Amino acid sequence: MTEPADLLVRNIGQLVTCEPALGEGPLGVIERGAVAAAGGRICWIGPDARLDGEVVRCAAARVVDAGGRVALPGFVDSHTHLVFAGSREHEYAMRARGATYQEIAAAGGGILSTVRATRAASVDELVALGRPRLDLMLRHGTTTCEAKSGYGLTTADESKMLEAIRRLDAGHPVTVVPTFCGAHEVPPEFKGRTDAYVDLVVEEMLPEVARRGLARYVDVFCEEGVFSVAESRRILEAGARLGLRAKFHADEFVTLGGAGLAAEVGALSADHLLKARVEDIARMKAAGVTAALLPGTAFFLGLPYAPARAFLETGLRVALASDFNPGSSMGLNLQLVMTMAVSQMKMTMEEALLGVTLNAAHAMGLEAEIGSLRPGKFCDLLLADAPTWERIPYFYGVNHVARVIKRGSVVWEA
Ligand SMILES: [Zn+2]
Repeated sequence: MTEPADLLVRNIGQLVTCEPALGEGPLGVIERGAVAAAGGRICWIGPDARLDGEVVRCAAARVVDAGGRVALPGFVDSHTHLVFAGSREHEYAMRARGATYQEIAAAGGGILSTVRATRAASVDELVALGRPRLDLMLRHGTTTCEAKSGYGLTTADESKMLEAIRRLDAGHPVTVVPTFCGAHEVPPEFKGRTDAYVDLVVEEMLPEVARRGLARYVDVFCEEGVFSVAESRRILEAGARLGLRAKFHADEFVTLGGAGLAAEVGALSADHLLKARVEDIARMKAAGVTAALLPGTAFFLGLPYAPARAFLETGLRVALASDFNPGSSMGLNLQLVMTMAVSQMKMTMEEALLGVTLNAAHAMGLEAEIGSLRPGKFCDLLLADAPTWERIPYFYGVNHVARVIKRGSVVWEA
C-alpha cells in the first residue's frame, strides 16, 4: 500500500512524460492526463479519467486544475556558471564591433574581469546576485540546475563560490548542484606557470572542497591556451579519487581530444564539443558519456554550432544546456535553447525536449530522480500555456510557463 496522494494535478491537456512506456510516441504523451504525488514524489500517472478509481488521496490533498494546459517534466540545466559578480555588457559591445574572445582576453577583459569582481565579492553578495537569476530560471521552467565555481581561482575564493552555491540551493525552490571548476582559467598570478597552478588545484583546492563536501562534480576548461589534455586528466583523476564525477568543457574552440579524455575517465558529460573528433565521439558512446551541447554560446558569440546530428546518429545521448555565464552566454531560457537546437543544429523537437529534460538529468547523473515523469521520481513539473508541447520551441523567445511544481509543491505561478 503506497502513501496516500497529497497532490493531484488534473485536467492536463497533453501530459508529456518523457517515458515512452507510459504513453504515445517517443515522449510517452498521455492525452487528458493527470499526476498524483505523495511526499514530493510521483505516485501515480495516467489518464485523468482513471484517477478517481486508482488513487487513494489524503483528506487535505491539494488539487491543481491544469485547465487543459500542457504538462512537462521540469527542465534540467546541466551546465551553468550561475554565480559571478560584475557584468560584461561592454565586452559584448566590443565583440559587436569585431573583437574576438581571444582578443578581448588578451586586452585583460574576458573571464579575468569576472574573476576580479568575484574575488572582491562576499558570500552574501554572491548569494544576493544569484537569487534573482534562480528566480528567472524557475519562471522559465528550470527546476534543477548545475552551477560551477571557477571565477575565484584561489582556494578561498573557489570555496566562497561553492559556499554561495550551497546557500542558494538551500534557500530556493530550484535544486542547485555544485561543480568545482577551479581549473576554469589560469589566474594572472600563475601566468606562465600552469603546472604550478595545476599542483595547487590538485594538492590544495580539491582536497579542501572534498573535505567540506562543497561539490558533487569536477570540471576543467580543457582548451588550447588553458589546460591541456594531460593537465585536465590529472585534475579529473584527482577529483575522481575524492568522489567527484567529471563533467567538463571539451573541444570547444580547438580539437584537443577532450572528448576522448571524457571517455577515458568515464565522465558524466563532455560539454561544448564543437570540435570533437569523430573517433572520440564513438569512444564517448562506448563509455556512456552524455554530450552536453550549448547552442546559446554559439548563438551569443555568432559561432558555428556543434554537429548535433553527428552525435545523434551514433546513438549518443545529447543534452542541451544554457551555459549561462557573463562572457559567452548571458541567457538561461531553455525554451529558447530548444528552438536553437531545432533551427540551428537540426535536432527534432523530440530530441530537443529530451535534451533539456531526461538527457540533461543523465548529464548530471540524476536520471533516477528527475528528468521525466514516472512513479518514484520527484514531482518536478511545469504547466505551459500552450495547446501542444511543440508550441514551446515553435513560438520562440517568449515564456510559455504558467506554473511550476517542485517536489510536489506549487512554487511559481504566472
Ligand atoms: Zn561553461
